[in-house]
Amino acid sequence: MTGGLYLEGVRPAGVVGDYLGGPLRYDRNVNYELYMGAALAEARAAADAGEAADGAVAVLDEAMVARGRSAIATTGDPTAHAVIIVVREAARRLGRTKLSGLIVFTAVEPCAMCVGALIESDVDGLVFATPDAKSGASGSIAKGHLSVVSGIMAREAAELRLTSARGH
Ligand SMILES: [Zn+2]
Repeated sequence: MTGGLYLEGVRPAGVVGDYLGGPLRYDRNVNYELYMGAALAEARAAADAGEAADGAVAVLDEAMVARGRSAIATTGDPTAHAVIIVVREAARRLGRTKLSGLIVFTAVEPCAMCVGALIESDVDGLVFATPDAKSGASGSIAKGHLSVVSGIMAREAAELRLTSARGH
């Protein structure tokens, strides 16, 4: 698991994730590759549009209830990160502001703003493909109940970021 190197030794209190030997909350019943593949497709579309190569999907009971991609340049909104967009879209579609039961899949490790949005909206789980050494904030969450799984399709996501014009 590529993500393990970056977060080596980090096992924050309140977050269940074993970044060394594989995540503790990894659930063998979840088709991680299917959902991460969809998030990576969004990331690819964002990169093609000249945005940061990041995309996300929200999953509830095995159904994808929202998809999103970074759109900062397109919208002129500095908060238009993939995770923020997907949280807003999921809340709108589900008609509720508390998103318990949801798992958010994202190509790139979310920043502090996005992690805050996940915690404030009671999202249950976060799965990301590749760590972000610059603004990633998912290795040091000190509160909340968000469980984190990293490294799913990490190589594909890392390659996408390298080949896209802009980093996250
Ligand atoms: Zn963000």
